[in-house]
Amino acid sequence: MSSQALQLPQYSTSEGTHRVGEEPYLLTPGPLTTAVSTKAAMLKDWGSWDDDFKAITAEIRKRLVAMCSGESDYDCVLMQGSGTFSVEAALASFIPKDGKALVLMNGAYGQRSAKTLEYLKRDYITLDKGDYLPPMPEEVDAILGENPDVTHVVAIHCETSSGILNPLKGISDVVQRQGRKLIVDSMSAFGAIEIDVADIPFEALVSSANKCIEGVPGFGFILARKEALLAAKGNSHSLSLDIHDQWIYMNNTGQWRFTPPTHTVVAFLEALRLHEAEGGVKGRLARYTANRDVLVRGMRALGFETLLDDEWLSPIITTFFSPNDSKFEFSRFYNEIKQRGFIIYPGKLTVADSFRVGCIGALDQHVMSGVVQAVKDSCEVMGVTNFGPPDGVK
Ligand SMILES: *Cc1c(COP(=O)(O)O)cnc(C)c1O
Repeated sequence: MSSQALQLPQYSTSEGTHRVGEEPYLLTPGPLTTAVSTKAAMLKDWGSWDDDFKAITAEIRKRLVAMCSGESDYDCVLMQGSGTFSVEAALASFIPKDGKALVLMNGAYGQRSAKTLEYLKRDYITLDKGDYLPPMPEEVDAILGENPDVTHVVAIHCETSSGILNPLKGISDVVQRQGRKLIVDSMSAFGAIEIDVADIPFEALVSSANKCIEGVPGFGFILARKEALLAAKGNSHSLSLDIHDQWIYMNNTGQWRFTPPTHTVVAFLEALRLHEAEGGVKGRLARYTANRDVLVRGMRALGFETLLDDEWLSPIITTFFSPNDSKFEFSRFYNEIKQRGFIIYPGKLTVADSFRVGCIGALDQHVMSGVVQAVKDSCEVMGVTNFGPPDGVK
């Protein structure tokens, strides 16, 4: 691979190095704000059959396996499309047609997995904890005890719709003890929350380019036991989403089966290098945690309340209740904040109006302080004076 072409500026968290021009910071859980060098890596065209590009694909796979310490038993398969394509590919490829899943739901992404199984005509049951409560290991244990025919447990690592960090280690222990297989949607956590296969021996884990590794959208990746990849032959209903087939082809040819998102792939390798330079998963977690702490402290000082208690707050994204003030209107709030240089995310709760602020992406504490200031100023011009939620929701 011509490494010369990828000698790009070093990552820096000082203001101004992440943006080209004056586009707002994305306080969203992917697509997110990327480093300038990640964007710059896309200024070259690549032939997907070329050895230089194959070397990039191989290096990405190797680095991702290393990130979960899976070198001995695991491999990585890259899959075109958004994260959902990779989740669907994993559910279809790893759960055999006569298998049965237990889906742990506490928000939109758990619901999406169940809906996907519906499309795939795989048998499943659910544990549905509503909007913001975690599925607890004891509950999973009891359900598995009563349902010996369940072969796979599908868990969402960080449920991005509320920001809750689910107790994956406890769930994994129970699944292992009960002799079932764990499939993890770690889309919004992998790369920022430590996962070691010695500790959490998952069957398969799915994430994508545009979350905590801080690449741009275009593909997802599946980390899976080699045994599971072998056993997946013939399970998938779909040619393009067949992980076994993609794996065999990548191993045999070094190529993707169908056209890869070449620019996204090259940008992702640069993002992985920046991830390593920052100190890997630990370094990234430290920055995101600091981002979250500055945000939550600042917002609470203004009078806002978080949906979740501190125990469940992830360093990925935080949900705040909308102010109980007749002058508050989300679309105006959104636009006022955007004018000040930040894009936030609407809420997804059924219990109360809310909005979300992401802590991931090429952002640091200065950006987070800026968001808090923008929220304060926006509320001021809107005439909002009461920042707390309506009585009774919290
Ligand atoms: C982002 C995300 C996905 C995938 O979403 P896409 O829009 O398809 O990329 C799946 N699960 C979780 C938990 C996510 O945060």
